[in-house]
Amino acid sequence: MDALNALTVDVEDWYHVCAVGDYLPMEKWDAYENRVNRNCERILDLLRAHRTKVTFFVLGYIAERNPDLVRSFHSEGHEIATHGYLHQRLFDMTPEEFDDDLTSSMAAIRRAVDCPIAGYRAPEWTVTHETGWAYDILIDSGLQYDSSTVPLTMMGDRLYPRYPFKVHTRRGSIWEFPATTMRCLWESFPYTGGLPLRMSPFWFTVQGIRKLNRMGYPAMVYMHPWEFDENPPRIPLPPGRKFMHEYLMTSVPSKIEGLLERFRFGPIRDVLGITPLG
Ligand SMILES: [Zn+2]
Repeated sequence: MDALNALTVDVEDWYHVCAVGDYLPMEKWDAYENRVNRNCERILDLLRAHRTKVTFFVLGYIAERNPDLVRSFHSEGHEIATHGYLHQRLFDMTPEEFDDDLTSSMAAIRRAVDCPIAGYRAPEWTVTHETGWAYDILIDSGLQYDSSTVPLTMMGDRLYPRYPFKVHTRRGSIWEFPATTMRCLWESFPYTGGLPLRMSPFWFTVQGIRKLNRMGYPAMVYMHPWEFDENPPRIPLPPGRKFMHEYLMTSVPSKIEGLLERFRFGPIRDVLGITPLG
């Protein structure tokens, strides 16, 4: 049988862009238009058409305000995991603030639906050497896997492991499922989600996943509801952020559909063989 790859969605709305507090201040979030429900409905339609289950990393802020959305993910058999509460990068928080953010996010999800939560994904892949303290907090919160590292010099460390592995600390152990990358000379290149997926030619992504699967490793593909927006709002962002957020955004739905036609996908818990405990 074909290899099982992980398909994941970071459930956040169009204004959850990291580090642009001056442009999209948190105090205004509640006044902004809700577009996440509509965009997630498009994702759910696509997944239904391909009979595929995925992992939804739900932001606590979204779960609090859209409990029906979380219930629909759950009732359709998808895995619910957490993306934190306020979409803060880990290095912008103290360990105590991270603990509070994680606890609030899990509580908000559990108020929406009674389901086990096994996984966490940090905003912008910010579990790094500097924020390695997060693993103890994730373990103490009962989580069984994290999917927040990227073996890339610019955002993490090019020497980080590139395939799922177990992290062991004095508090216990936890799986880490890093962002999928391709090794090229001394650096790794991501190509399965976000701006890297949008910029990579489709054949390049397909060949990369095929090669990985032939080596016996699963790929991890990720997407965001705002990449499925048919009429994305124009956000006044600084140029670098604008490029990262919007460049080739409309290419994502057809690329994801193309991958669904070519590969077998499932939620991370199934790829790692985890039975969620609570
Ligand atoms: Zn995010």
